[in-house]
Order: sequence, then structure tokens, then C-alpha cells
Amino acid sequence: MKTIIKTESLSKRFDGKGVLDGVDCAIREGDIVSLIGPSGCGKSTFLRCLNGLEKPDAGHVYVDGEDIFARGTDLCAVRAKVGMVFQEMNVFPHLDVLENVMLGPVRIRQMARQEAEEKAVEQLRMVGLGEMLHAMPDSLSGGQRQRVAIARTLAMDPKVILFDEPTSALDPSRKSEVLSVIRELARQGRTMVIVTHEMQFARDVSTRVLFLQRGRIIEEGSPEQIFDHPRELLTQVFVNNLRSLVFDIASPDYDLYKLNGEIEWFCQRNTLGRFYVSLELIVEEMLTKMMPFTGPIHICIHCREMSRKVSVEMVQEHFSGRIVGREGTDEISLMLLQGLCKSILEEQKGDNRVVRLETEAQ
Ligand code: ADP
Ligand code: MG
Repeated sequence: MKTIIKTESLSKRFDGKGVLDGVDCAIREGDIVSLIGPSGCGKSTFLRCLNGLEKPDAGHVYVDGEDIFARGTDLCAVRAKVGMVFQEMNVFPHLDVLENVMLGPVRIRQMARQEAEEKAVEQLRMVGLGEMLHAMPDSLSGGQRQRVAIARTLAMDPKVILFDEPTSALDPSRKSEVLSVIRELARQGRTMVIVTHEMQFARDVSTRVLFLQRGRIIEEGSPEQIFDHPRELLTQVFVNNLRSLVFDIASPDYDLYKLNGEIEWFCQRNTLGRFYVSLELIVEEMLTKMMPFTGPIHICIHCREMSRKVSVEMVQEHFSGRIVGREGTDEISLMLLQGLCKSILEEQKGDNRVVRLETEAQ
């Protein structure tokens, strides 16, 4: 397959701090590469170097064999070949949907308006917005605006599209409409590089996964290899951490909204969908009815590899005696918990009381 983008020893520092550290990589025609890694590891900077939005301190980026940072390179032409969709929806608020999509082809490619309009309508239909041609961006949902941004990128007829967390600013239902469009682009055989935290999506859609940490590609391979059989310890830790949520409660005034937010995010990244509703309920019942605050409580939610089994471990410090089913426990809460969980086990570990609830997402 033809190589579309190639990087050689790409390095970048910000304020003396290394952000990219000698990245070598090749994106070939038809590749759908997911770029994963902890926040701050350099994913956005890497993408921005690929279309010349960021200039590396050392190394090279070749697009179609051309060194894009060499003197005399037309970066506008490079950006037409290497389209980018950002996390925040970059559409022009003062232009309607159609004008947003026509702008690039007319201004940058000098395409006749008539032709640009035909193409824009075609792209907008593809992303499901054929009926919204004259809507203004502020009347659209976040998911629709992000689809306009995708249509706008497609209208430039790029050879490769870079997506930088295209769904992370959207709520769950809006996320899936955008992910579906990207899945469709994948079916069409588009070459793409996608930075995402949606691991199930990355697993389904990509031909290759790159794991970046501290500005280096630590491991690359098929989705099965990276997610199920990572070779490198750092990849193992990253992939495993995705499966756990740890939350500590230090006072009775803990932030329940933050806890619920983290449970939702945990379910999302493990593609447990609406199971977060049950998990939130389990944790809340436990905290309000079973474990009145007497000292620090630690919660660990863990999702087992390749299964929908989820365990919730709740540790109450400096406590002994029964927690679940003790004298005076709220009967209705107990029935609710038993209905939501496959098993509830309790044990004393030294000074701490540990309750383990096993559940399974439908
Ligand atoms: P990621 O997308 O993986 O979260 P980024 O590429 O955005 O990571 O950032 C990597 C590191 O570089 C971060 O520590 C970030 O603060 C820093 N950084 C990114 N862009 C700039 C910038 N324009 N100026 C200074 N530091 C930056
Ligand atoms: Mg980023």
C-alpha cells in the first residue's frame, strides 16, 4: 500500500519540556489508525505536526513523499490533503451549514460555486444533514455541528483525515451519531488517524492501534494485540487502568456528582452503555443505606477483560461488624442490591471491612 504520511524522528519541545520524542511512523492508504494514550502524552501535538499546524523541532513529516516543513512547501495544499476534525466543533457561526462546507473548496481550491455547492450537498447528505443545509450552527446540536465539521473536511477531498477526540465534547447519544459517521467513512475505505478514548470504537474500526506515552510510540499492533495481548508493560498498565475506577471518600460531604460522573465515564470507556445507571444505584445505595460514614471509604470498580462482569469493592476503614444485612438494614435497599448484583460478599481485612458486589451488564 502506498504511504501517505511518514514521520521520521519527529521531536517537539514546549518550554524546554519534551512532548514528542523521536516518533517514526507511516500511515498507508486505507489505514485506519487509532492513536491512544494518557492525556498529555502528545497525541494532539503529533496530529498537529502531521498537517503542519505545529512545527517540530527536529525530524521530518512527509505527505505524499513531500517534506512539508521544507522551504517553499505550500502548507495550504498540505492541509487540503491532510484534513483535520477537532474536538471543539470548528464551524463558522455566522455561516449556514452549506456555506460552511462550501467555504474551503471555493476559497482554497478555487472551485466554481455551483460545483462546490453540489459537492457540499453530497457530503452533507453523507453525514445525515441533507435536510439542514440552511440551518445556522447555533441551532444545531453538538453532534450535528461535529458532522458539519466532518462534511467540511470531506469537501476538501483529503487523502487522509485526522480526528482529534472528535466526540469527547459530546454527550453519549450525540457521540454515537458522530461515531457512526466515522464508521461509515471506515467502510468507504477512507484513510484516517483517530485520537480517541472510545476503546470499543477503536477496537472495532481500526486496522492498527498506536499507543503513545510521553511522546513515544511504545507499542503498535492490531486492536486485538494492543487491547487483549499487549506486550509492553506500559501498554498493559494503560489498558488495565481503563478498566478500573478508584474513588476515595474522605468525608461525609463527598462530591456525589463527581463520583457519578466518573462512573458514567468508566462505563463509557468500557462500552457498558447505560449500565452506569445500575452502577450508580448500587454505589449510592451502599453509601447512603449500608455504610453510613464512620471513616474513609474506598471504592474500586473493575471491569474484567472481555466480559461484561463488573465488580464493585467498597472498603470501610476502621470498621468491624456486618455492613450488609446487619440488624436494622433497610430491607428495600437490600432487596434492590440483591436484584442488581449476582453476589454480595463481605469480609474483614484487618482493621477494614470489605464488601464485594459482583454484577453483570446486560
Ligand atoms: P494530548 O493530546 O495527548 O493530551 P498534547 O499534545 O495536547 O497531549 O500535549 C502534550 C503536552 O504538551 C502537554 O503537557 C501540554 O501541556 C503541552 N503543550 C501542548 N501544546 C502546547 C503549547 N502550544 N504550548 C505549551 N505547551 C503545550
Ligand atoms: Mg489532545
